[in-house]
Amino acid sequence: MARNRLSGPLADPAGEVGYPADHPERVGFFTDTSICIGCKACEVACKEWNLLPEDGLDFTGMSYDNTEDLSGTTWRHVAFVEQERPTVDLGMPAMGRDSDQVRWLMSSDVCKHCTHAACLDVCPTGALIRTEYGTVLVQDEVCNGCGYCVPACPYGVIDIRPDTGGAAKCTLCQERLGAGSMPACATACPTESIQYGPLDELRARAERRVSELHEQGVTSARLYGHDPDDGVGGAGAFFLLLDEPEVYGLPPDPVVTTRDLPSMWWHAAGAALTAAAMIAGSFLGRKR
Ligand code: SF4
Ligand code: SF4
Repeated sequence: MARNRLSGPLADPAGEVGYPADHPERVGFFTDTSICIGCKACEVACKEWNLLPEDGLDFTGMSYDNTEDLSGTTWRHVAFVEQERPTVDLGMPAMGRDSDQVRWLMSSDVCKHCTHAACLDVCPTGALIRTEYGTVLVQDEVCNGCGYCVPACPYGVIDIRPDTGGAAKCTLCQERLGAGSMPACATACPTESIQYGPLDELRARAERRVSELHEQGVTSARLYGHDPDDGVGGAGAFFLLLDEPEVYGLPPDPVVTTRDLPSMWWHAAGAALTAAAMIAGSFLGRKR
């Protein structure tokens, strides 16, 4: 069966929605979590640049992470995962006693700027758009705050901002891209865990990095979100992880939630036609 346009690989998401052939290359993030040190410079830079208010400092009781999650006012979130197990030497500084039995997994999460973005598909006002860079952007002045996009996102990224009532998430610093600058988080990251650039280049770089780590004995290294054949047609922001996605709070096999809409419409149309035929049949039967 031919794939519909709501799922599957798509070479040029910006071209697909009508940008001229000379539109900029698709750009995105490659977040290499193996070199994240959990400094949260990315979270702070994002808040500073995008004028996002603080949203509490809570004790979760589960980790040193007190940001907890992405939200309408937190567009970068660094997960802190503390695991008691023998570590692989990545050349990182040891932390505290018995540090060889504790490893820290840190990962800066963000909107995935999906190739097939369900948030955008379900938005009734057209507030969510695909940009010329292939990213997904909320237009604040068009959003009516209905919240349809919130449950549609398979990653639980987009949310309603309590202070404005509108949907909000990472913009990939659209205005910085327009000025030829990198997004604020990638600029601030001191270890280059967050890498920004043309998506194809990032994918090739990530493959090389995984091979390098495997050669060094870090066999758990794997990519997440880089594959155009995955459930969202490949993410515009993808990751190198050192454990299963669930460990970092990421869904293991995300699928664009609007994937089955065309077949659902066909089934609904089929059911309506069948019902109409049965009603017509019963009328004709009575007349005889
Ligand atoms: S991760 Fe969620 S909010 Fe971001 S583009 Fe994909 S569906 Fe939309
Ligand atoms: S700025 Fe870089 S190293 Fe620091 S927490 Fe963010 S991703 Fe990790």
